[in-house]
Amino acid sequence: MKIVLLGPPGAGKGTQSARLVAKYGIPQLSTGDMLRAAVAAGTPIGLKAKALMDAGALVPDEVVVGIIGQRIEEPDAANGFILDGFPRTVAQADALDAMLAKNGHSLDAVIELVVDENALLSRMQKRADDTRAAGGEVRADDNPEAFKTRLDAYRAQTAPVSTYYADKGELSQVDGMQHPDVVSAAIAKALGA
Ligand code: AMP
Repeated sequence: MKIVLLGPPGAGKGTQSARLVAKYGIPQLSTGDMLRAAVAAGTPIGLKAKALMDAGALVPDEVVVGIIGQRIEEPDAANGFILDGFPRTVAQADALDAMLAKNGHSLDAVIELVVDENALLSRMQKRADDTRAAGGEVRADDNPEAFKTRLDAYRAQTAPVSTYYADKGELSQVDGMQHPDVVSAAIAKALGA
């Protein structure tokens, strides 16, 4: 099962991805997590990405396409994967199609979590508060200023990705404002399970 989860920051992609991992036994491939790991490790990619990520801007397409291209070739991804946070531009979606087609593969489902934008800032702030309360480290881009840039990037660069998949007849939209359990059930339905 090869699944793409789309939706703005704070839509619940991470929560739903984790549930799909447990259900299907396939890995969650989050470009955000991979980039944060690269930043923490101080790799050349991490050094290049850090300032853009901290500001809430997208890193260049070729960087994330390269990361995902390598990652989907790894053995644990042979039976499928959940892409969380990728593709974020139409160029990335095109590159993904080409990478899959090269091996005779294609996506099984593209699911968009549709949420009310007004709820996103408070969801992000709650995530930051919960992390802090648990003694964890808050993401550098979980602050109101960077969050605004992330939303702007979503609107300008990522919203067209939904249209891209809708035009191909591959998009399923799910109401992401519901309780996480209800969202999971709606995703299962969209996946035909
Ligand atoms: P996320 O954890 O998905 O919210 O991603 C955190 C940050 O990583 C984003 O704000 C971008 O700076 C960067 N990033 C993650 N995935 C991508 C992507 N597919 N394309 C470009 N930048 C990305």
